[in-house]
Amino acid sequence: MARIVIIGPPGAGKGTQAKLLAKLHGVPHVSTGDMLREAIAAGTPLGEEARQYMDAGQLLPDDVMIGIVDARLQAPDAARGFILDGFPRTVAQAEALDALLARRGLPLTAVLRFVVPQDDLVRRLAGRRVCKDCGTMFHVDDGGPAAKGRCDRCDGLLYQRADDEEATVRRRMEVFETQTAPLGRYYAGTGILRDVDGSGTRDGVFARVKAALA
Ligand code: AMP
Repeated sequence: MARIVIIGPPGAGKGTQAKLLAKLHGVPHVSTGDMLREAIAAGTPLGEEARQYMDAGQLLPDDVMIGIVDARLQAPDAARGFILDGFPRTVAQAEALDALLARRGLPLTAVLRFVVPQDDLVRRLAGRRVCKDCGTMFHVDDGGPAAKGRCDRCDGLLYQRADDEEATVRRRMEVFETQTAPLGRYYAGTGILRDVDGSGTRDGVFARVKAALA
């Protein structure tokens, strides 16, 4: 049973690796960032609230995020497991997650912490393009679909996330250092924390992810 959390700074490749892992294990990829972007696209009240925080590179309030994740993990497809990407991002969220999983007798099986040099993170985020329709991510340096502006899977338009612009990226890095990095200490005593070198290619990182979980 895979009940896995992925933590790491913006641009560490969490989303890309979470998608691969979800497919491998046949469990849902639960990305709180994707859920918020969907709420924004749908124009819901949550989306309205989320946009203000996200554009500023700030985190939404813990109680809002905990409520969203609690509801999502109760959906039938999550009974077989899940790959959580982007949650928890604070110690309070981690405590709430542990509590709600403990109530269901389904504790986390692993926490993967991605470690990537700062220069690589900035380069990855600045060149990142995302398909509006299917969410697939590309990088302008790959010379492929990103150069043409169209997704090679579904032909959707590629765009740059508003929060991938330079000033917001800097703020997100600071927020990561102050609010999310302390999660490493929180999980260090649990015996399920695994560090993964997140630099290099997608496939190279995925091989290390699988080795860390073996
Ligand atoms: P991500 O796609 O994971 O990089 O998330 C994009 C943005 O969504 C973050 O910068 C936050 O503004 C917001 N967000 C996503 N997940 C969380 C969370 N667990 N707690 C608070 N804010 C979040």
